Amino acid sequence: MAEDCIFCRIVAGDIPGRIVAETDHAVAFLDANPLAPGHTLVVPREHYARLDEIPSDEAADLFGAVHDITDSVEAAVDADAVSIGINDGEAAGQEVPHTHVHLVPRFEGDGGGP
Ligand code: ADP
Repeated sequence: MAEDCIFCRIVAGDIPGRIVAETDHAVAFLDANPLAPGHTLVVPREHYARLDEIPSDEAADLFGAVHDITDSVEAAVDADAVSIGINDGEAAGQEVPHTHVHLVPRFEGDGGGP
């Protein structure tokens, strides 16, 4: 755990997070500043800043969690689709240096996206 990492602190339960799913190596919680209703982040339990730092078994679990919860995220807000993305590195727009997968519910004609 990185003491100064907000996502590590949510995973550890030190600060509140609206957790929607947990697996051995991943935790999913609602984004505090959602781009759309139901915007969810899926993060590895351990602190890894970048995707390529995650051991393959933990990465498999992370993307397994993304696979398993996408339908539920879409259904929870009656969306039509889901945009799934990672800002991998500061120049890509990554602001929180703990790898996270964005699941952003999408609606016909919303014209948005991550
Ligand atoms: P960006 O903010 O450009 O999308 P990131 O890809 O690093 O950059 O995404 C960080 C995400 O973390 C943002 O969507 C932000 O709303 C979210 N976030 C920041 N702090 C919290 C928090 N305490 N709880 C939940 N989500 C958070």
